[in-house]
Amino acid sequence: MVKPGFDRRALLKGGLTVTVAGACGLLGTTAARAGEGVSIPRIYSTAEWNARPATGPIVVENHKPTYIVVHHTVDPGNNEDYSLAHALQISRDIQNFHMDTRGWIDTGQQFTNSRGGYVTEGRHRSLEILRGGTQHVQGANVGNHNSECIGIENEGLYSTVDVPKALWDSLVRMVTYIASQYGIAPRFIKGHRDFNSTECPGQVLYNRLPELRTEVGNALGVAVTEKAGWPLLKPGDTGQNVLDAQRLLRAHGANVPTDGVFGPSTKDAVNAFAASRGVTPTPCYATAHADETGFLGSDLWPLLKS
Ligand SMILES: [Zn+2]
Repeated sequence: MVKPGFDRRALLKGGLTVTVAGACGLLGTTAARAGEGVSIPRIYSTAEWNARPATGPIVVENHKPTYIVVHHTVDPGNNEDYSLAHALQISRDIQNFHMDTRGWIDTGQQFTNSRGGYVTEGRHRSLEILRGGTQHVQGANVGNHNSECIGIENEGLYSTVDVPKALWDSLVRMVTYIASQYGIAPRFIKGHRDFNSTECPGQVLYNRLPELRTEVGNALGVAVTEKAGWPLLKPGDTGQNVLDAQRLLRAHGANVPTDGVFGPSTKDAVNAFAASRGVTPTPCYATAHADETGFLGSDLWPLLKS
């Protein structure tokens, strides 16, 4: 699949470049830069949405990000205002929430994608640094991984419903551009839950990440390899994964049943285990209201299995 707007000849060139890169090992962190074959998305800068100035210095790290991370904002929900004005408004709302409630110096994520498909710069300097393609603006959107991750907050809540087409198309273009600028291989496109025990970016959008990797890979002309992530378990879940988790929790001394039902005692045991290992709960940072205590995800499975 080639997305409209991409130059097929340039894409072919990108594909040839990748053959060379493949010889050096495409399984590494680098992929060929498709360069001129990738369209540059319109990104509305902090100045264009009248961002407040940051209250502290923006940290620019002298390396590229490793991962592109997909989030959902949860709030303000699945709004049906698809206008540019709305996209600029939620950029201000999120910045206010992050600065006034979370106490951060600025917006947490590097970029925001609205349901109407408008992309805005989040944290100051993110756009300029992305254009440069060699450095990374440290954000606050993936707990314990902010030096490695560049994050896109997608407006809405996607646990049970799908994203609007405009948002999806815009996400594909934006992730393709970021991957191209930094030479990030499609398999390093991740969801927030691949790092923290959070619902983010919602089960439905998370399920579409393989499709996102494929579309980005096609646009860049690079091969896509998939690696299965850890399952996310939540209170109320049932089944084999819950049973596996209960057995592992018991092996670590927790008094939980082995009934395959994620009930209150299992939730308490997950919380206690996380605390004992110094893993603090990290719900999606753009979320004001979600209770994600007791979730068992990517940050806890490796510890449970060790
Ligand atoms: Zn998130």
